[in-house]
Amino acid sequence: MRALPATVLAVCGLIASACGGAGSGEPAAGQAAATASARTSATTTEPDPTAPVERAPAAKPLEGKTVVIDPGHNGGNARNPKAINRKVNVLTQWKACDTTGTATDDGYPEAAFTWDVSKRLVKILKSRGARVKLTRPSNTGVGPCITERAAIGNRNKADAAISVHADGSAAANHGFHVIMPKKINGPVDPVVKKSSELGVAVRDAFREGTGLPYSTYIGSKALDYRNDLGGLNLSTVPKIFVECGNMRNAAEAAKFRDPRFRQRIALALANGLQHYLNS
Ligand SMILES: [Zn+2]
Repeated sequence: MRALPATVLAVCGLIASACGGAGSGEPAAGQAAATASARTSATTTEPDPTAPVERAPAAKPLEGKTVVIDPGHNGGNARNPKAINRKVNVLTQWKACDTTGTATDDGYPEAAFTWDVSKRLVKILKSRGARVKLTRPSNTGVGPCITERAAIGNRNKADAAISVHADGSAAANHGFHVIMPKKINGPVDPVVKKSSELGVAVRDAFREGTGLPYSTYIGSKALDYRNDLGGLNLSTVPKIFVECGNMRNAAEAAKFRDPRFRQRIALALANGLQHYLNS
């Protein structure tokens, strides 16, 4: 027990401020409390010498960037087949205006999943300074058509656009993949290369952030290129789709139902977008 005061003294000698400076006698009880409180507030506002150096309040990393997030499908689509089955021109073919999307075997709809992940992604990107637009305002409506989903990215002159989905494949299939546009002799051609860069950045961040494997059943190393998606064919801004995994695979379905995992997905997507936007 005699060792303790010696230790305290040694610490005081090294870090005078930790022991209240010179220490000229004991202050009265009231003074002690006041001093302690002043010390606490001083400590919290003073820079921590061990903290990473952050001198000026740096500009947020995504300031000046616009991101359009397209949560796939919509919660009201299934109740409105007439509206979503209307055919629209996606340049390489005619397709349904929108689709219902898939669901987990126990009934968690893809539209709810994409909406939740997208809302989380909006928050993260805004906190990093980006201007962010969603292609739908809720998960209770219908559509919009895939043509309009692309147009929203174009009208907002997005620096990057991302369509969030999850797949509905055979139960044994698993893993995520990213879909990028191909040249179609159309408006997407000038952004095919940029979209590919965006896709690789998001692929890398997604794997690192979520730990999910590359798709076992689509694409090569989780990269897939398509010319049949209206959301890509009609985009004049760099745009990709991410298929976060297979909702019909039990292990991935369980992950998608977990809000903490959806947050990990959103964070991974934000990191991928940021890597692309800052490169
Ligand atoms: Zn989908």
